[in-house]
Amino acid sequence: MEVYLDNSATTRVLPQVAEFMTKIMCEDYGNPSSLHIKGVQAEQYLRYARETFARILKGKEKEIIFTSGGTESDNMALIGGAFANRRQGNHLITTQIEHPAVMQTMRYLETQGFRVTYLPVDRLGRISLDDLQRAVSQETILVSVMYANNEIGSLQPVQEAGALIKRMNPGILFHVDGVQGFGKAKIYPQKMGIDLLSISGHKIHGPKGVGVLYVREGVKLQPLLHGGGQQMNLRSGTDNVPGAAGMAKAAELLYAHYDEDLEQLRNCKEHFIKGLEQLDGVTVNGLPAGDWTGAETAPHIVSVSVAGVRSEVLLHALEEQGIYVSAGSACSARKPQPSATLRAMGVENALLESAIRFSFSVYTTMEEIDYTLQALYDKIPMLRRYTRR
Ligand code: PLP
Repeated sequence: MEVYLDNSATTRVLPQVAEFMTKIMCEDYGNPSSLHIKGVQAEQYLRYARETFARILKGKEKEIIFTSGGTESDNMALIGGAFANRRQGNHLITTQIEHPAVMQTMRYLETQGFRVTYLPVDRLGRISLDDLQRAVSQETILVSVMYANNEIGSLQPVQEAGALIKRMNPGILFHVDGVQGFGKAKIYPQKMGIDLLSISGHKIHGPKGVGVLYVREGVKLQPLLHGGGQQMNLRSGTDNVPGAAGMAKAAELLYAHYDEDLEQLRNCKEHFIKGLEQLDGVTVNGLPAGDWTGAETAPHIVSVSVAGVRSEVLLHALEEQGIYVSAGSACSARKPQPSATLRAMGVENALLESAIRFSFSVYTTMEEIDYTLQALYDKIPMLRRYTRR
């Protein structure tokens, strides 16, 4: 049996999405900037993609910019937002547990003269609104807070943060990295005070290398790419029509049975966590003691530390059983460093080195969960005996 439980790293492209993209690539392959019929056809696919995201986000078509993925969306929001608003101040705020796409971009902005505050998180991986309020100053021009954390699935109080920021100064830009949150929670930028929202195609059963940046009407960004002036001069480069349309198709399919799918996902997560309760020395990171449901966290991520067993050892033991998971987060998995997120949450060193992330999709079955639990019941005692020797 093959069980893919690394859906936070990437997801399987749905066959309907692949078919749709194949038709665009092989038949309707025009450049939307061309004036002939092939160009017009291609433009219609882009229009469909923009309309789909505008509808889902309850925004406007002109607020949807297609990018090359979550990383570019984050870079565009932060670098574009910071440089375009430099005259208003040089202070930026984010959290200590952002994905490298935000964290490293903030580090870059520090080299460009910006000052960055990194908000701490509690044991559950959540920022405090009081800390946020205290951090905002006259100089603050942008705040970036992720919706759902990619390693532990903690959810930030985004709506409350948006309201707070706008109350303090409506001119401060509020960016949300929604790469892990989109499709797992309904995110409505306007209602939540979000000016900029990043989404990635490959986390929602769409293609890799395509993303969306929602840019609220009226928000000024300095473009990162210069060229032919596509996408209202914000993002030059020949439009990735199959990517944008494929990502929109994936989002449309996701929203077609959103509530049922989400309930199934939550059930899988709860069943898995309850199953872990039977194992000694296993901690679910980011859950309060005694919570074996995970109802307050993202429905698709469970981070587990197994005392006495190193992450890579368990990862490969599960791999032998056909079960694919991540040690920490995939993006930093090839550099075996303890997770900065878990460290910021105050997780003890021994547990940092034994963190494993299981991430589900709406296509994960209960049978797969049971198979994985059984593998853990079999392997963990054996690996612990081996470690002690
Ligand atoms: N932000 C978060 C929270 C992520 O989890 C990821 C990818 O794992 C990214 C940004 C980067 O997205 P992409 O892989 O599309 O560049």
